Amino acid sequence: MNPAKNILITGASRGIGQAIARQAAQQGWSIGLNYNQSQSQALSLAEELRQMGVKVVCLQADVSQQSEVQRMFREFDEALGPLHALINNAGILASFLITEADETQLNRLYGANVFSAYYCAREAVLRMSTTHGGSGGAIVNMSSVASRLGGLSGGSAYAGSKGALDSFNLALAKEVGAQGVRVNAIRPGLIATDIHYVHGGIDQMKIMAKTAVPMGRSGTAEEVAKVAMWLAGPEASYVHGSIVDVAGGR
Ligand code: NAP
Repeated sequence: MNPAKNILITGASRGIGQAIARQAAQQGWSIGLNYNQSQSQALSLAEELRQMGVKVVCLQADVSQQSEVQRMFREFDEALGPLHALINNAGILASFLITEADETQLNRLYGANVFSAYYCAREAVLRMSTTHGGSGGAIVNMSSVASRLGGLSGGSAYAGSKGALDSFNLALAKEVGAQGVRVNAIRPGLIATDIHYVHGGIDQMKIMAKTAVPMGRSGTAEEVAKVAMWLAGPEASYVHGSIVDVAGGR
């Protein structure tokens, strides 16, 4: 148990973020549960976690917008107090050919997958860094194996956004490592969540996983969540600037 610690998880209403919130609750963290559009899922998850005896605050914000991120962190401060860990999990998948790429969809994708990480990490470092009066903490960035495999069909923008996150992870680790803030990333492979509607849904993805993944199956959100909470917690005290693949060998 880890009762004194406060964590903010972005994109926690569904999929991997929801599993991370459940894992954090099992470990006794107080949780800032961010969602954007899925309010009912977020509220019912929060209720489920409160039944487990932990403190939870639901934080609606589109994390691709800096002003909303700043408001979200102020709401977190008021509800839970000092921040000890941030999971930059929120993200979207998109599939389009380069000849179809336009400003609107690139801004949307990079806003949700990349700018969000910068906006949230900025607020987290301002609170956790010993240089800024904090007591240290951890940041976990949710990348993807797409950053090194190029993604599925039409994946140049998505893969590029996750490649940006990998580089951000490394550079941020150098910047804030001596300030008590550990920074790490996870590269999930094919994980069974609704994000795969873009490529025909979860069932289609599971068929693909049988041949595309050395372990012969897709992963679960819980399998990613356990690694995320290990990276966020004290057991990973000397793990920094790392990227952990959770991809069944893919
Ligand atoms: P998911 O089931 O589609 O859930 C996405 C979550 O992100 C939702 O909670 C959604 O919130 C939130 N979100 C999206 N845009 C947001 C925004 N602008 N502001 C705030 N929240 C936002 O996806 P997932 O599979 O769990 O993916 C989670 C992360 O893992 C993503 O970064 C994804 O790229 C990465 N990943 C997933 C896989 C995979 O196979 N599933 C593989 C590699 C990497 P609302 O519904 O409330 O809007």
